[in-house]
Amino acid sequence: MRKILLAGLVAGTATPALAHTGIGSADGFPHGFAHPFLGLDHVLAMVTVGLLAAQLGGRASWLVPGTFLTLMVAGGALGAAGLPLPFVETGIGLSVVAFGAAVALGLRMPVAAACALVGLFALFHGHAHGTEMPETASGLGYGAGFVLATAILHAVGLGAGLAAGRLASGTPLRLAGGLAALGGVAILAGAW
Ligand SMILES: [Zn+2]
Repeated sequence: MRKILLAGLVAGTATPALAHTGIGSADGFPHGFAHPFLGLDHVLAMVTVGLLAAQLGGRASWLVPGTFLTLMVAGGALGAAGLPLPFVETGIGLSVVAFGAAVALGLRMPVAAACALVGLFALFHGHAHGTEMPETASGLGYGAGFVLATAILHAVGLGAGLAAGRLASGTPLRLAGGLAALGGVAILAGAW
């Protein structure tokens, strides 16, 4: 895990991460709702949070996505308030690698550790957009759409993860995590 994270970190710092160029308009509910679905980095990270929640099961199945959503909103608020957060793009790419690796390795981490992991990276997902949101009703609409879309992606991952977790002692779920981690490495390498 640490090795994978380090590899991702090296890849992320070696190339300028431009995964979020062409973000588009940051106002209104429709734009906010569409954005997480349009960025491979968000989709992979948010679905993989659902996979991780399904894999851990029990309280984690709602606490892990709930923590991501909460800290993403907090990150957005920090961004909107103008607080700088370094390496936002790298953090988003790295989140995909970290979540994917956790699922691929089938880490039986405590719920608190899983929440800390997803919460930390959720700050980056929120911050990237808080900075560009207009401080108006349309900015709030954008945020609401963004949060709803994120919750849907979590639910998709959770549903798929619960279904896959029952198959072949969870191997398909771990494979999906591995693929997500590889996708994250590609994002960090600037392939997307
Ligand atoms: Zn984005």
